[in-house]
Amino acid sequence: MKQQPLFKDKIYNLKCPKCGSKMVLKNSKTGTFYGCSKFPKCKGSRGADRYGRLYDKPANKLTKAWRMLAHDKFDMWWRYKGLSRNVAYQRLQSFMNMPPDKAHIGNFDIAKCKKVIEYCSMREVIELCLIDPSGINIF
Ligand SMILES: [Zn+2]
Repeated sequence: MKQQPLFKDKIYNLKCPKCGSKMVLKNSKTGTFYGCSKFPKCKGSRGADRYGRLYDKPANKLTKAWRMLAHDKFDMWWRYKGLSRNVAYQRLQSFMNMPPDKAHIGNFDIAKCKKVIEYCSMREVIELCLIDPSGINIF
């Protein structure tokens, strides 16, 4: 069942947090979100519920910077691993112990962003250990 967004006027005014371009409301398997109209050149996105209402609470500059960092780290991790976006978010949800509609980095506070970065780094270290069991060359 596809729902029409209720707040169309917000789409028009919405700017990409990364590059300032217009954003487009999109539906994916993981849910509804606003994606940058410059995609795939720009991967800026903002979380929305299925009616197109924005998830993310207004954030200060520091929180936004942490979200961006966490998002980059997370995207890099699952793309490198060859996971689908779907699977990656499922793992994030179970790690963060959050329901799917809440596990959106665009909605996270700094502490949660740090947890995402920690999770991705942890996975990388574990995988490096598997490649190099001596663990000597990791750090
Ligand atoms: Zn953008």
